[in-house]
Amino acid sequence: MKISIIGAGIGGLSAACLLARKGHSVTIFERNDNVGGKMNQIQTDEFRFDTGPSLFTMPYILDELYLQCGTSIEQELELEPLDINCRYFFQDGTIFNNYTDLNLTLDEISNFAPNDVGAFLQFLDYAEDLSHKTTPAFVRNPLYDFSDLKDLNFFSFLGIDAFTTVSKRVDKTFESDKLRQFFKRFATYNGSSPYQAPATLNVIPHIELGEGGYYVKGGLYKIAESLLNLASSLGVQFLYNAHVEKINISDGSVSSVELTNGEIVISDLVIANSDATETISKLLKAHLPEKKLQASKRIEPSCSGFVLMLGIDTKYEQLIHHNIFFSDDYKREFDQIFVDKVMPDDPTIYIANTSYSDDGHAPNGGSNLFILVNAPYLSEHYDWEYYEEVYTKLVIKTLERRGLHHLSEHIVYKKCITPLDFYQKYRSNKGSIYGTSSNSKMAAFVRPRNKFRGIEGLYMVGGSTHPGGGIPLSIQSALNAVELIDRYE
Ligand SMILES: Cc1cc2nc3c(=O)[nH]c(=O)nc-3n(C[C@H](O)[C@H](O)[C@H](O)COP(=O)(O)OP(=O)(O)OC[C@H]3O[C@@H](n4cnc5c(N)ncnc54)[C@H](O)[C@@H]3O)c2cc1C
Repeated sequence: MKISIIGAGIGGLSAACLLARKGHSVTIFERNDNVGGKMNQIQTDEFRFDTGPSLFTMPYILDELYLQCGTSIEQELELEPLDINCRYFFQDGTIFNNYTDLNLTLDEISNFAPNDVGAFLQFLDYAEDLSHKTTPAFVRNPLYDFSDLKDLNFFSFLGIDAFTTVSKRVDKTFESDKLRQFFKRFATYNGSSPYQAPATLNVIPHIELGEGGYYVKGGLYKIAESLLNLASSLGVQFLYNAHVEKINISDGSVSSVELTNGEIVISDLVIANSDATETISKLLKAHLPEKKLQASKRIEPSCSGFVLMLGIDTKYEQLIHHNIFFSDDYKREFDQIFVDKVMPDDPTIYIANTSYSDDGHAPNGGSNLFILVNAPYLSEHYDWEYYEEVYTKLVIKTLERRGLHHLSEHIVYKKCITPLDFYQKYRSNKGSIYGTSSNSKMAAFVRPRNKFRGIEGLYMVGGSTHPGGGIPLSIQSALNAVELIDRYE
């Protein structure tokens, strides 16, 4: 079959490899001039930055894709487990190293939260149990028709803790405010608020702490590069600077894609890796009833991000590879982001400092700081054209106050990415960075499926589709789509 893929994000690249391996003729149309989508990189003369993901989890999903394509994760990537998953800095000066060695972590906890050591272990068991109950049902499953439900154990659904929030479950479990903040942070890994998202998302600590979080030697962009090389070796054609404006339909089936330059490319199947809401409301606008177009606009995006990349001419000894500086009032911070839709005035700040693990990412004696603050998705409440500069200053000042003394004097390279940039560059719905929101109990059920209902031959992949955002789930969406293509075409 002649297959057109819209977008060379992780979902699009994954689908391309799998379909080309099955012998199809695959072309990817990408509006930018490189692959990877939100997984992107910047290389200057002196510094290198990943501009998107910095933590890689669930490597077995990528490995499954590689194996289906005749290679393996060991052959493609050098995965690096870190001794310390992340270093957390609290406002009162406490520093918590979350080691990959559980015993070392327990030693740390016994220093600042001695009454919670047992609760910590119990919570990890609870998170693992959630993983057993949810991963086969909601993640590694296309959840498209009744045949996808046949192996599921419905009794186990009762135990997925969907009727309380992440925050309430965590507050009930721990006495220590620090551990409460630590465990609530994981809901942000897919762009959700711990104060709104169902406690089912407490599965995420198991993914990082139980299964392991990885760095990819050279930078996370190596994943995109490896998929590009694999796809090319399998015969996939890449067209860059090619924005698809329309998906054309004839007799209820896809017939072609149409580019902004007017070119029409006949296609037996179309796989949209473009954001699902954008695909429905723009690319399919002419073919769908107004009700469906409006419904797609109501799909809530995940939060966005404010990114600041600083190349600096010094090293801060307290910074390791992954670092988090927690805000003082977490509830207020999330209310600002998710309810008021403004930037937090006292943000939690994440810093990935890959020069800690990879020598070539900053010149001798320097560091490459990728700084990420959770941000509201785009709305009329916040004008990024104006606030970019203002917020950059706020973040740098906050970090100076939190111990990165004289940071502003050490900056030799600076680049900012705002939610507006995420929309303009990748066309992600309202600048969201993890696709659709998981803030409601029903999120897993309303997320667009990997085969589009109502139009034959149209499939959807990526973080805005089932099963959700992040690298592994975007790859899983492609595995699902290909399974559905095998089932229906
Ligand atoms: C700052 C940041 C930090 C993150 N951190 C992590 C992390 O640590 N770990 C993790 O797992 N995930 C993380 N994520 C999320 C992860 O990057 C995404 O979930 C994942 O990369 C999304 O892949 P996707 O398949 O949805 O494609 P996308 O990245 O959304 O790419 C879609 C592609 O389609 C193209 N496109 C869109 N419309 C059109 C069109 N009409 N015509 C042609 N091309 C089009 C776009 O240009 C883009 O290249 C992070 C994201 C960001 C931005």
